[in-house]
Amino acid sequence: MSPKKPLNQLLPVRFRNGEQIRQFSKPCVRCGHMLNARDMQGAARLIDDHLAIAASARCPQCGERFGVACIVDNQKRVRRVLVPALLFGWYLRSLPPLEGEAARMPAAADETRYDEAPAPLPETTAQQVVRADEAVGRYQNQPIPAWVLVDGRKFVFERVAPGAQPGNGEFVLDGCLIYRGSN
Ligand SMILES: [Zn+2]
Repeated sequence: MSPKKPLNQLLPVRFRNGEQIRQFSKPCVRCGHMLNARDMQGAARLIDDHLAIAASARCPQCGERFGVACIVDNQKRVRRVLVPALLFGWYLRSLPPLEGEAARMPAAADETRYDEAPAPLPETTAQQVVRADEAVGRYQNQPIPAWVLVDGRKFVFERVAPGAQPGNGEFVLDGCLIYRGSN
């Protein structure tokens, strides 16, 4: 069984959807003083993408001790657990450690690791498009440039095809003008 720990050492916990529990607070049952994770000793762990928390809290204001048992879902909604905190805590602490939990990084390192994850690529990458002044005709009252330079590569006008997807070696200008790459 893993030992009880101050809850602030067990946070933050990150859900699969990226939501993160950094703090956990609870009012004292006697005087209403707001306790935070530092004032609670126990267990906090992810089970099925829910954060289960079982702790014994001690109010620094009035000295009251009380049990905390709840489940936080990945929308950060907190639900009480209808099992005494003591039993729930035993249960949580008797679970086998999660893979990698033993080598858990401190919060700061955890953050860094997250930031190093590659950012998703934008849907379309911005391209530098230069339009030729020379027009080969007009389409919908707009001149059709004879050629375009896309990131320095020259594409020559081929046809008008509204809504076309660019084929191999092609470039679509304004969603309707098809250009073919020339070497
Ligand atoms: Zn109190």
